[in-house]
Amino acid sequence: TEMIQHCAGCGIALQTEDKSKLGFIPEAALEKEPLICQRCYRIKHYNESSSITLQQDDFLKLLGHVGQTKALVVKIVDIFDFEGSMISSLSRFIGNNPVLLVVNKIDLLPKVTNSNKIINWVQRRVKEENLKVVDIVLCSAKKNIGFDRVITAVQEYRGNMDVYVVGATNVGKSTLINRLISDYSDLDAELTTSQYPGTTLDLVKIPLDDGKFIIDTPGIVYKHRLTEVVKKRDLTPLMPDKPLKPMVFQLNAEQTLFFGALVRFDFIKGDHQSFTCYTSNAIQIHRTKLERADSLYEEHKGVMLTPPQQSDLEELPKLVKHPLHIPKGKQMDVLISGLGWIKVNSLAGAELAVHAPKGIKVITRESLI
Ligand code: GDP
Repeated sequence: TEMIQHCAGCGIALQTEDKSKLGFIPEAALEKEPLICQRCYRIKHYNESSSITLQQDDFLKLLGHVGQTKALVVKIVDIFDFEGSMISSLSRFIGNNPVLLVVNKIDLLPKVTNSNKIINWVQRRVKEENLKVVDIVLCSAKKNIGFDRVITAVQEYRGNMDVYVVGATNVGKSTLINRLISDYSDLDAELTTSQYPGTTLDLVKIPLDDGKFIIDTPGIVYKHRLTEVVKKRDLTPLMPDKPLKPMVFQLNAEQTLFFGALVRFDFIKGDHQSFTCYTSNAIQIHRTKLERADSLYEEHKGVMLTPPQQSDLEELPKLVKHPLHIPKGKQMDVLISGLGWIKVNSLAGAELAVHAPKGIKVITRESLI
C-alpha cells in the first residue's frame, strides 16, 4: 500500500488523477522537493490563486464560521451586476464583524461617470439591503484603479484581525486577491489553509506580516445571474471588458428589443421615449414591433438572434415574462442580472415586460447613471 503524501504548502492529501480537484499535483512534480500541490504552486510562483466555488448553502455555513471569529470581512461586488452579485443575508451570518464593501470593475462605467455619485448610490442601495458597512471603496482589480485605497482601507479596518474575502463568482475576487498577494504579503512565509467545519474544503490563507491572514473564500455561485447559465463560450460576449458604450433607442409603445436570443424587452405602454442599454457591445440588439416579437424569436433565435447559438439553445432555460411598472417621476433602471441594465429615460412612467431565462433575476432600481 502506498503512503498518502501531503502538500508542504497547505497540508492537503496529494492526488495525480483530477486537475479540477483539490490536492492535484502533476506526476512529474512528485520527483521534486518540497512536494507542493498545483494550487499552492501557482500562488507561490505566479501570484495566482485559482477559483473554487460553492453553492449558497455551503457558503452560508462557511460564513457562520466567520461569524464566530473576530475578522474583517471584505465583500466584493461587481458594479456591472450590483444586485446580482450582492450576497443576500450576509449580515445575518457574519455577526458583528465589520464589512468593507469593495465595488469592483469600476473601469466598465463610461468615462464621464462621477464617482461620488456612484458612492452615494451604493450607500443608498446598501441601506435598502440592511447591510452595515464600515466603508465603501470603488476599484478596478484589472485596471489597477483605486487599489491603493483598497489596501489602506483593509489596513485601517482590520486592526489586528484576520481578513476574509468573500464574493460571488465572476466579481473579480481572484484578480483582486492576486493583487493583494503581490502587493502585500510575505510569500516566503509558508502558505497554510484552514478547514472549516462540515466540509472537506480548504481555504487558502495568505500570511500577513503580523501573523494574521488574508483568507480567500470560495466564490459563491448564484444561478440567478445570466453569466452562470450560459455556456462558457457565451460568457466572453456577455461580460464587457471595455468601458460601456451605452446604446440609446427611441421607442414607441408596442416595440420590442431583443438582446441576442437571451433576453427580450417589451415597451408596452407609455409616451414615445428613449431607453439606454448598458450591456456588452458584443451582444447585438434587435428592434421590432411587439406584435412581431413572438414569431421573430421563433424564426431567428440562434441564427440572427445570438448568443446563444442554435446548438446551445436547448440548454437555455425557457424565457419567463416579468411585467414591470415604472412609476411617474422617477428615473429607473431595469436590471437583468448578468446582462446589464436598461435605463428608462422618461419621467412619464411606462409599462414594460422583460422576458428572461427562468430563474434570472430581473429588478427595477433607482438609476445608477
Ligand atoms: P472570481 O470568479 O470572482 O474569482 O473572478 P475572476 O477574478 O476570475 O474574474 C472574473 C472575470 O472578471 C474575469 O474575466 C476577469 O478578467 C474580470 N475582471 C476581474 N476584475 C475586473 C475589473 O476590475 N474590471 C473588469 N472589467 N473585469 C474584471
